[in-house]
Amino acid sequence: MSQASEKSFADLHLHTNFSDGTFTPEELAARGAKVGLAAMSLTDHDTVEGAERMAAACREHGIEFISGTELTAELEHTELHLLGYFIDTQNPKLLAELKKFQAVRQSRIHEMVEKLNKVNIPLKAEAVFALANCRSPGRPHVGRALVEAGYCKNLDEAFDRFLKRHRPAFVPKHKISARDAIGLIHGAGGLAVLAHPGLNRNDAMIPPLVDQGLDGIECFHTKHTPAASERYLAIAARHNLLVTGGSDCHGFSKGKPLIGTVKLAGQYLNKLKDAHRAKSSNPQSAIAPRAVQEPTVLTANPQ
Ligand code: AMP
Ligand code: FE
Ligand code: FE
Ligand code: ZN
Repeated sequence: MSQASEKSFADLHLHTNFSDGTFTPEELAARGAKVGLAAMSLTDHDTVEGAERMAAACREHGIEFISGTELTAELEHTELHLLGYFIDTQNPKLLAELKKFQAVRQSRIHEMVEKLNKVNIPLKAEAVFALANCRSPGRPHVGRALVEAGYCKNLDEAFDRFLKRHRPAFVPKHKISARDAIGLIHGAGGLAVLAHPGLNRNDAMIPPLVDQGLDGIECFHTKHTPAASERYLAIAARHNLLVTGGSDCHGFSKGKPLIGTVKLAGQYLNKLKDAHRAKSSNPQSAIAPRAVQEPTVLTANPQ
């Protein structure tokens, strides 16, 4: 397998309409080609359904595809998202767990709609499912349905008035423990990476996650300031963790698509691939010690 060159870039955090993004895999790959990405990973929430189409679409554009997902997990009652890279998307245990996630996500839509109805918003669950058209629906789909039906001006208003925590239609999500999520990712042959730690603003959660087998942290993310990226690069170096990055593009769900605004330099992707190879050839072994990362390439461009 050829190594990504220093000048090639990857976006390892992307969503399609198989979860709460608006692009199809084909549209997403075409956008990736347009902004010059050499590699892309599809990290839809709690699903891998888009993987096959995304892999084929990337192939058409000569883009390297890295399988992925973004699992909803928790550590001491705090929600966190764990990215799984290079996972076998046919792994039976992973698929069984994702099926559970999806069943709960679907019943959660009914619960949110019931709560909306109680505050005199006569939205129908069918309207949300019609718009979501995926097995892993979530609050953004309810939000879009609220906007489409004219109850809210935009998605932000839908979250602020109804969908976020402590608002009338909030329903907590199914989560698995971080330990189980990391185990599931490792069991499917993947590397487990903490998504957007800057959104959690709780760096104290990183050492316990490292003890539980975390492989990397997402240092570059749309919502990370350059200072936050530098802080996470230093934390990654201290704990000998891999470094990843991505835009977390959800398509047109909110303003302009973010793809292309955060680009991970080829050197980081190469280290990720090396670690995956080392782990695959000897799954029992810990990943070989990694060199301290130089915090040089930063492209985070928060919008
Ligand atoms: P859920 O997984 O159903 O709880 O929904 C969480 C998703 O909602 C996140 O992954 C974001 O994509 C999206 N989200 C969270 N807050 C907002 C917001 N204020 N406006 C639009 N989308 C949001
Ligand atoms: Fe999302
Ligand atoms: Fe996330
Ligand atoms: Zn995401």
